[in-house]
Amino acid sequence: MTDKEKLVKGGRTFLLDLLPSAGQMARRYFHAEELPSHKKGTHDFVTAADLAVDKFLIEHLKERFPEIPILTEETAEGDINRFAKEEILWIIDPLDGTANFSRGDVNFSISVALVEKGNPLLGVIFCPISSRLFWATFLDKSAFWNGRRIKVSDVSELEKAVVCTDWSHVLETREETTNFLRKIYGQVRQIKILGSAATDLTLLARGGVDIYHHVKLYPWDVAAAGLIAQKAGAVVTEIDGKPWNAFSESILAANPILHQKMLELNAEAKV
Ligand SMILES: [Mg+2]
Repeated sequence: MTDKEKLVKGGRTFLLDLLPSAGQMARRYFHAEELPSHKKGTHDFVTAADLAVDKFLIEHLKERFPEIPILTEETAEGDINRFAKEEILWIIDPLDGTANFSRGDVNFSISVALVEKGNPLLGVIFCPISSRLFWATFLDKSAFWNGRRIKVSDVSELEKAVVCTDWSHVLETREETTNFLRKIYGQVRQIKILGSAATDLTLLARGGVDIYHHVKLYPWDVAAAGLIAQKAGAVVTEIDGKPWNAFSESILAANPILHQKMLELNAEAKV
């Protein structure tokens, strides 16, 4: 076994144990009567739960893997793209779907990934309320949900497809999402906006939706989820078909047939 394989296997075992503990912490905040929060940007905010889970994960990862740097949503500063060059890096989203969490909506999750120069080697996502644990590593041929293999859907026609997208916190990019919706609304069966990229991509990975599209994301939203989707059989690229990694701004994920159809649809609209 190479050092990299050893690290990924050790990391997987560690995270499969750690994330449910972090989830317990998030659950306590979820059910608490008061949830302190403050604004991060015009359309974004952070709660005490994000910060507590972030601290918990950082402390444990630092103790077990002291040599590996960590990028988290709550401690990221300046140009985060400099982290794309790191040989090896943890990427943490202590809570993906904070807006859902703060309004009593259970669609949120905790996401941790190990990446090598931006390419995910290991991804684990835990949904605290449903206790769903998803994971994948670069060594495996599948993604897993509570130990079971999962697969993306085999829906091949757009008219039967369920599309999931979302609004970014970056207001200027919402126009792009609006254009996307305008393009597809008459062609697909259903469109969902569920509010947590990490969680929503696990839904794609287990066949609950057929296409996931997002124009503006951060590495912590998708580093783990992108790998889980890939290992569940999705083709994952940027929205224009360029190769994806955790630092890509956009994502298009679907089974190979629908992914191709979405790229064709995009190309047509530009003519
Ligand atoms: Mg978050």
